Amino acid sequence: MYMKNEKIGVYPGSFDPITNGHMDIIIRSTHIVDLLVIGIAVNAEKKALFTLEERSDMVRNDIKKAKSLLKSKIEVVTFEGLLMNFAAEAKANMIIRGLRAVSDFDYEFQMAGMNARLEPDIETIFLMASESHQFISSRFVREICSLNGNVSSFVSKNVLNKLQNKFKVA
Ligand code: ADP
Repeated sequence: MYMKNEKIGVYPGSFDPITNGHMDIIIRSTHIVDLLVIGIAVNAEKKALFTLEERSDMVRNDIKKAKSLLKSKIEVVTFEGLLMNFAAEAKANMIIRGLRAVSDFDYEFQMAGMNARLEPDIETIFLMASESHQFISSRFVREICSLNGNVSSFVSKNVLNKLQNKFKVA
């Protein structure tokens, strides 16, 4: 529920699937906002491995497991269309993005700049995951698992099961 003066952050992404890197950013985010809205993007451009519902369920499950580490309220919602429209509707004060290597920077820099023009009152905040989580990406998790590699240190047990079912690997 929205309350006046509450700091609201939106953390958008495809979460296909959620990784320990995402979870690291989520935990950090809950230390700086009162309400964190995790926005799972329908994303027309990227063809997702998991359905929107599967992605949401996995996020909810991981959040439940990490409950003791989370300091703010959390909502998990799906959204379609322009991120800044979604953020404005959610009454967000900030968009939270994770930064990994230098490779993320150029894209994120441009996006933050354009988004600031669309919604000048919504700041984009960049967070870094801990060293051990920084290099994790959903894309490589999918790729490694599809080739029967071990991704157990990159995702939760639940996500690992879902990946193994998807790829019919053990
Ligand atoms: P990916 O880029 O892995 O497909 P998403 O589109 O779901 O993941 O990313 C959502 C947000 O989470 C982005 O801001 C992305 O940079 C960030 N993120 C993903 N993995 C990490 C990580 N290991 N460390 C920091 N930020 C991350």
